[in-house]
Amino acid sequence: MDGSFMNLVSFSIKTKGIHNFVRRLWTVFARFGFSEARIHQALDAIVSSLQCHGSAPTFFIPAVVLNRHTELIAEIARLGTEIGIHGYVHNDYRTLSESQQYKQTEQAISIFRQLQIPFLGFRNPYLGWTNASLNVFTKLGLTYESNEAVLHDVIDLESLTPLIKSGYEKSLALFQAIPCNTYTVRPHFEGTLLRLPTSIPDDEMIFDRLRITNPEKVASIWSKVMLHVYELGGLYALNLHPERGILCKGALDILLSYARSLPLPVWVARLGDIAQWWKERSQFRLNINSLDSNRWQVEAICTPRATLLARHLVVENLSASSWDGIDMHIQTHSFIVNTAQCPCLGVSSRTPEYVIDFLHEQGYPSVRCSQAQAQIYALYIDLPDGLGTISGERMQRKSALVDQIEQLEVPFLRFGCWPDGNRAALAISGDIDSVTIQDFFLRILEVR
Ligand SMILES: [Zn+2]
Repeated sequence: MDGSFMNLVSFSIKTKGIHNFVRRLWTVFARFGFSEARIHQALDAIVSSLQCHGSAPTFFIPAVVLNRHTELIAEIARLGTEIGIHGYVHNDYRTLSESQQYKQTEQAISIFRQLQIPFLGFRNPYLGWTNASLNVFTKLGLTYESNEAVLHDVIDLESLTPLIKSGYEKSLALFQAIPCNTYTVRPHFEGTLLRLPTSIPDDEMIFDRLRITNPEKVASIWSKVMLHVYELGGLYALNLHPERGILCKGALDILLSYARSLPLPVWVARLGDIAQWWKERSQFRLNINSLDSNRWQVEAICTPRATLLARHLVVENLSASSWDGIDMHIQTHSFIVNTAQCPCLGVSSRTPEYVIDFLHEQGYPSVRCSQAQAQIYALYIDLPDGLGTISGERMQRKSALVDQIEQLEVPFLRFGCWPDGNRAALAISGDIDSVTIQDFFLRILEVR
């Protein structure tokens, strides 16, 4: 152990230079301890901040680290914290073949099971996912993964020095950043696997790359992201490493209060709860039938916590409450609306079936119709080529379609993304890469 520690020290000095090595080492000693005490305190700080808001965080941990600190993790799990898998060891899956990814994920799952730590999701170290990872997670029956790094435009790049800017851009490339829009901040299914977007810049980028450490400044960045996600009605999965838990506590408290202060409620939840909700919501259906001219009977097949939204519609015998200005939140699941147009989407017969599935997942009811009937519907969708074949193109087309539908200025009914009238969701998540100084150095050996 001592020999390998010294090897590691000389290896690190050779590769990173003495100055960087000393700076890094100082940070490691400042944030971790030889015992669990320091991280324990940081985890408690995050857990208690969320408790004040009736919620709990989600922490992802490598199986080997869980194995060394089972009692600590079991204790925070008992307090309601969700624990997810962060690899078998802390390595980048992009450097592994699919079969290696499969083997390591399977090993991680088996350790979690042995130690009786329940789990639903997986987040890759360095958010380093590949298409092979998605196959592996699906085959091994994981409920969700949380790797897609939605980049929020909250940093003034012009104000950065060239050195800091290039470090920031390196992180964006490492995390495979995707643009932020109404579609990308929503969860989505890929087959049976649920993908929950996470958000960047994360705490590491803010603290270490951008050198922003003032709690008010950090809180103001996080609140800006919150407001933007709120406006888009999506999920803000904030990513924060518990070794910065104490440093971040002030900012976290400000963010949580800010989320509470927004006009419509924000659902503060664990990623696992969000995954379960998205599954529940995927079963919802809206049946809309014509009664006579200008009258439609609506039956919502859904659970009581569904958020049913209507715009530009008169609902018979019902005073629906206004929701976000354009939409009303309808509290009943069986009602009649007065409108000449059918308040759902019409889809051409040559549009592939998966487009209908996509619309359904987004909460938009649709029916097949002919071009001649197009004007009866809120919007006529005719996409013979579907939504594209290349993944970047697909994301663009889906984003454009969701935007177009969200901006409709005609009678329209749909399911909101979140339960109980919430406008957006906020999940506080973090990666427990190491608990002690020993873990920090073992990690470098484990991945070699
Ligand atoms: Zn990590």
